[in-house]
Amino acid sequence: MSRANLDRVVSEIADEMRQRPDRGEVASYIPELARVDSKSFGLVVIDAEGHVAVAGDSETPFSIQSISKVFTLTLALGKAGDRLWRRVGREPSGSAFNSIVQLEHERGIPRNPFINAGAIAVTDVILSGHQPREVLGEILRFMRFLADDSSVAIDEAVAASEQRTGFRNIALANYMKSFGVLDNPVDFTLGVYFHHCAIAMSCRQLAMAGRFLAHLGRNPSTGLSVVPPERARRINAVMLTCGHYDGSGEFAYRVGLPGKSGVGGGILAIAPGKASIAVWSPGLDASGNSHLGRIALEALTKRLGWSIFGA
Ligand code: GLU
Repeated sequence: MSRANLDRVVSEIADEMRQRPDRGEVASYIPELARVDSKSFGLVVIDAEGHVAVAGDSETPFSIQSISKVFTLTLALGKAGDRLWRRVGREPSGSAFNSIVQLEHERGIPRNPFINAGAIAVTDVILSGHQPREVLGEILRFMRFLADDSSVAIDEAVAASEQRTGFRNIALANYMKSFGVLDNPVDFTLGVYFHHCAIAMSCRQLAMAGRFLAHLGRNPSTGLSVVPPERARRINAVMLTCGHYDGSGEFAYRVGLPGKSGVGGGILAIAPGKASIAVWSPGLDASGNSHLGRIALEALTKRLGWSIFGA
């Protein structure tokens, strides 16, 4: 893939997306997120050589929300190794991101680390032995290191907004606590969870941060290893099967890449061996995934032949 070709495909797709009238609905259950301009659109692809193809609002920070769960999973696996899987499963849920029904059947063990309950359990693992402030500092340092950008920050207004209105997540956490799945005080675990969801990053920063997943656990530009190759492969597998909640099958069918969405409208997608991709369009579909983001990624993988399942 020549650089010029990649640049052309990325800007063509951004132009096409700009003209589409169907943009989905911006999330409003976190009041602060509803203030975002629904017409925003950004797309960044960083290839194995480190070439950065950009289009649209690629430098505008947005709330990464559940995309942060990829990075907290990475940290929790670093801390607990395979013992993490005693606290959380790795099967697709087939239900909404904030569903509580499965938790009762499965005695408080969430289906996977990417639904809200699972991510709260993962946050609890990272928190053990530390104060919430220390852990948030660790998560932020990790994101800044991966993005190679010290300006990555938490949007306190978004965190406070979710803390005020996060009744479902508070219910999920209390319910898990009743089964003994959370070790720390519920308020502490949720405080860290709400804040890591409120990290704001641009498409460029996010695509940079995902590079290790595209290249066997290592940043190919710096040579620095983030996780062993086997762990990168497994994180990608969970992203493929569970990264889009109840829309994970549809995303695999249409896009064919491991990916993780957030209700802020971002998606991080990984083309193994080829590229790390970040797209942002705040309007969501019925499963809570970026509507145009998914359409843009489908166009991208089709034109570049990047689906992991072949052309
Ligand atoms: N912070 C959001 C919540 O817990 C994350 C959901 C998402 O991004 O899908 O509701």
